[in-house]
Amino acid sequence: MKKKKDIDCLFKDEKSHECCNSHDASSWEQLFNASQDPILVVRPDGIIVEANDATLQAARKTRNEVIGQGICKIVHGGRWPHIKCPLEEFLMTCTPKVEETRLPGLFGEYSFAISPVKGMDGKVDRIMLIARELTRDEIRKVDSIRTAKLAAIGELAAGVAHEVNNPVTGIINFAQVLLDKYTFDAAGIDIVQKIIKEGNRIASITHNLISFSRADSGARKPVNPVEIVKESLALVQHQLQKDGIMVVTDFPEKDFFIVADFRQLQQVLLNLISNSRYALNARYPGFDSKKNIEISCFEKQVDGHRVCHITVKDYGTGLPQSILERLFEPFFTTKPPGKGTGLGLSISYGIIKDHGGDLRVNSVLEKYTEMLIELPSGI
Ligand code: ADP
Ligand code: MG
Repeated sequence: MKKKKDIDCLFKDEKSHECCNSHDASSWEQLFNASQDPILVVRPDGIIVEANDATLQAARKTRNEVIGQGICKIVHGGRWPHIKCPLEEFLMTCTPKVEETRLPGLFGEYSFAISPVKGMDGKVDRIMLIARELTRDEIRKVDSIRTAKLAAIGELAAGVAHEVNNPVTGIINFAQVLLDKYTFDAAGIDIVQKIIKEGNRIASITHNLISFSRADSGARKPVNPVEIVKESLALVQHQLQKDGIMVVTDFPEKDFFIVADFRQLQQVLLNLISNSRYALNARYPGFDSKKNIEISCFEKQVDGHRVCHITVKDYGTGLPQSILERLFEPFFTTKPPGKGTGLGLSISYGIIKDHGGDLRVNSVLEKYTEMLIELPSGI
């Protein structure tokens, strides 16, 4: 450790004021490493100067891969330039706090107790982070807060969408009237056509928002989930082929059924496949043998219940852990304007929750992204 001398003094025998042999700096190090909770010490610029064994295990990295690295890289798997990392935010303000986050390579969520450490001059020269795995109850609480938040945002967004829908329809119709009844030069026609095109874009966003919040769920019937996956793939097959993306499927031999709205689940799969396609094209703009999407669909017994699992996994850009929590929020997108609306996953989440299921994500930056759908199975 950096300041072994200071640390030694903490172990002085109170009576003799002598340093006790069994309590020297290596003993501190032993205690540090004995902790089952990951502990990290970073400089105010976020560079890791110390990490205990539990951190190395959690991050599945060697000591050399951790010391000297930025905290975001180890804790969140890296950061994207325009996304603010909550730890970075803390490093700027340096006040003790507890931050909930995740460590890459681990399933489950962690909370971080973050404590500034002052040097002799009273200035914060290091920051200690102690991670603790959240209990099942805590995770459940976080999940229900998240679901409630999404529902509230959804309601608000749908309300706005309804309001926007009518004037937008008016704009599109009036622009069409202009085009049909009046004469323009080529530049004028181009402008009116652009008004219609952009108007249609707004209309499609409002349409998506309204369907995101719709509580009723169309016609639910017993359906074979494998058929939903196959039909969704058939719709995008041509696009995927064009981009050189190969789809590897894993389906059971025996049919099984779930009660679901075929069209809605197809919408979910199309959203997931479209995201995978984008991530693969972003990582490999040309042709590459690693441009694969793996899709599986199977039934499993969990606690005496039958559960349908559908997974969509790609080896595209992956995601930094710091934004995993925000993926399902309406309008959250990392795509440039015109490429993404940030609605695909929030709509998909709403549909799956509405079917009594769950939609989760596992991802490691620059490695893979896996979306997991769980739905009650059996009829
Ligand atoms: P959009 O696709 O319009 O951006 P989504 O709700 O579908 O909105 O996705 C939100 C964000 O989640 C995306 O902008 C992207 O950052 C991230 N994302 C979703 N799926 C993947 C994936 N398979 N690989 C990498 N990033 C993904
Ligand atoms: Mg999308």
